[in-house]
Amino acid sequence: MSLFLDLIFPKICYGCGQKGDYLCPKCQKNIHVLNTKAPQNGFDGGLSLFKYDSAIKSAIIDLKYHFVSDNIDILVNFIVKTLKSDFPNLIKYWQQNNFILIPIPLHPSRQNWRGFNQSQLLAQKIASKLSLDFSDEIIIRHQETMPQARLKNTKDRTKNVVNIFSLNPNIGKIKHKNFILFDDVSTTQSTLSSAQNTLKTLSPLHCWYLTLSAG
Ligand SMILES: [Zn+2]
Repeated sequence: MSLFLDLIFPKICYGCGQKGDYLCPKCQKNIHVLNTKAPQNGFDGGLSLFKYDSAIKSAIIDLKYHFVSDNIDILVNFIVKTLKSDFPNLIKYWQQNNFILIPIPLHPSRQNWRGFNQSQLLAQKIASKLSLDFSDEIIIRHQETMPQARLKNTKDRTKNVVNIFSLNPNIGKIKHKNFILFDDVSTTQSTLSSAQNTLKTLSPLHCWYLTLSAG
């Protein structure tokens, strides 16, 4: 079946446009891997894995607007491979301290319109491959906002996402846990900070963020 589909819809590399793979080996090597960030804005640390350009940018945009299950798997395999090779100690620290990976939720009406939340799908697959705990039920987005990308300055982006998240009233005892907030792209970190403020009421031990890329 997949061979048949490959003939009709050949995979095109996000980087160079060559047929055969979504991320060809040559373009994988050219993807710029970023470094971990020291504690800031209330986070104990953070990692935006890739620079938001070229192949990664195209992959994320394609995932957001033309979801196909094999492009997410190829992207997840590449993310997991990079995390394991470039950040083995960080992964071990997250695993040993039972960090829970939490995707930034979409507002329910937006998720219904799109049909899925790409950050949730990515986080779920990454957590499973790295043996990390995962939860998409701790925080909810109760307020719809304008897409951050449409707002140009940091002040407007920060204002746009203040108090948009709340704790799920149905969650049980999850005080004093370790969390990693996950999003696909972050630019000003306003959304991550807003979600982290909501998590604070659970008195977390440590809170990190992980984003696929940084603009
Ligand atoms: Zn390529």
